[in-house]
Amino acid sequence: MAEWSYRTHTCGALRAGDVGRPAVLLGWVHRVRNLGGLVFFDLRDRHGLTQVIVRTGSGAEEDAGRVRPEFVVAVEGIVEARAADSINPRMLTGEVEVVASRLEILNEAKTPPFGIADDKPVAEETRLRYRYLDLRRPDLQRNLALRHRVALAVRQYFDSEHFLEIETPILTRSTPEGARDYLVPSRVHPGEFFALPQSPQIFKQILMIAGMDRYFQIVRCFRDEDLRADRQPEFTQIDVEMSFATEELVYGVVEGAIAAMFKVAGVDVTAPFPRISYDEAMLRYGSDKPDLRPGMPISDVSALFAESAFSVFRDAVAAGGVVRGFVVPGGAKYSRKDLDELAEQTRQLGGSGLIWVRLAQGAVQSSALKAAGETPLRQAFEHAGGEEAGLLLLAAGDAPLVARVLGQLRLSVAKREGKLAPDDFKFAWVTEFPLLEWNADEKRWDSMHHPFTSPRPEDVDLLASAPGKVRARAYDLALNGSEIAGGSIRIHRADVQRQIFGLLGLSAEDARARFGFFLDALEYGTPPHGGIAFGLDRIVALMCGEASIREVIAFPKTAQAVDLMAGAPSVVDDKQLRDLRIAVVAKPGSDR
Ligand code: ASP
Repeated sequence: MAEWSYRTHTCGALRAGDVGRPAVLLGWVHRVRNLGGLVFFDLRDRHGLTQVIVRTGSGAEEDAGRVRPEFVVAVEGIVEARAADSINPRMLTGEVEVVASRLEILNEAKTPPFGIADDKPVAEETRLRYRYLDLRRPDLQRNLALRHRVALAVRQYFDSEHFLEIETPILTRSTPEGARDYLVPSRVHPGEFFALPQSPQIFKQILMIAGMDRYFQIVRCFRDEDLRADRQPEFTQIDVEMSFATEELVYGVVEGAIAAMFKVAGVDVTAPFPRISYDEAMLRYGSDKPDLRPGMPISDVSALFAESAFSVFRDAVAAGGVVRGFVVPGGAKYSRKDLDELAEQTRQLGGSGLIWVRLAQGAVQSSALKAAGETPLRQAFEHAGGEEAGLLLLAAGDAPLVARVLGQLRLSVAKREGKLAPDDFKFAWVTEFPLLEWNADEKRWDSMHHPFTSPRPEDVDLLASAPGKVRARAYDLALNGSEIAGGSIRIHRADVQRQIFGLLGLSAEDARARFGFFLDALEYGTPPHGGIAFGLDRIVALMCGEASIREVIAFPKTAQAVDLMAGAPSVVDDKQLRDLRIAVVAKPGSDR
């Protein structure tokens, strides 16, 4: 058979205007219908689908009778208009079909473990094991194409803002982002290890010391974290650092970058984004990554119950706790069963109970009406912004617990009320984070972000006396309940950096051993600087309306940190271990 020329068109290209023209298409057989004298199939590639017809007597019918889904074929033929009643408006090529004069099976395919053409749910394990087949499905093709365009927009944007993309090492030293490091043994230096970067943090700061002024990088980061839903051991950040940065400068650059990225997905982003302090976010949304879509903010009504007849609330306030709640507009319609379910959910979240108050035809009804009396309940309802037909849900206890419980309850109610539309994008800056949080297990302070985050100048005096009160020059960007970016203005003075290491329990010798090179660099004319890192996987997942970042990563690991397709991690040859002078003490399968 004669050689095939390359395709004349992709499978998504032909239109009514091409009728009468010859075409060569190359692709995968998507669906086949064999009607005896006539074989129809859809031919697929990344660009789309085209219907092909093979008629008896065309010379191609014998091979056409053999084709099965996922066979790779070449088709030559003439583009014809489809009959009016067979036009498919859902296909870009739906007005035409290619009538084949020649067909060649370039490769056969085994029957795939799941249909590429149907969108029936397939177990994720199977999808990941056969990722090359999964990636042929339209959703993943669309997601990866969008990801590519977003990454391109990022590069164009930062270039236009005079940033340089600079690569930083993958084989490096430990970076303190708070997770465990992945280690790589050095064969040349037995007993010594590289760490894979949890982020390029120290390198990007050194690039500022090195006078690079504005840096960005689309970069893989590695964190050996305990299993948490939807975390990946390796993930992609858009990492950014600027010399002479202020918070305002960072916010402006980031809002521009977000607008450029979302434009690719057809979403117009309105900047500036609202700003919420960490304390307010915890109070109003019970989360440091607030989801602003549903409204329904939480209100503190503790003062109304300090002297209440209702002992549950009065005692909580007397013990230094809080009474807080949020209003579900229209929630007065909830049935007894609905309310019982919400109370049960509250207990499962760790709360001690849930009190409801509703306003129906002007009358206050409540599960605590007898115990608390109408007046404080009506005041609480009004204080929380309740209106006719609304439902106020109240919980009491320690502030952090109540914040967490109500924060999660609010999201679950928002979900059942249909207030979490995936295409409604609501951004918010969260600012004024505490610099440090107390680590009760190890009896020392931990950085809330990382140890290079600058304290606010007005709080520096508190570093010695009340470290827990020091606020950081740190900021996160939240989108629909996810943290999509986080960063800070950095410490640029070696003395302050040493003081922070001290608070974190690092002795001067430890600090020198781990970060000596960085402390040295800080003393050679370090400009004030700051930056941020965006989670590219999460951003693209949100744009695609996907719940999991695995849906926007070509070859992700499972939640158990395993690559099911490649079979990684895996045991290695004894010879490799000997070269590295490594002995494995607990073999896989043993429980030591
Ligand atoms: N290195 C930080 C992170 O990966 C981001 C930053 O502070 O720029 O979370």
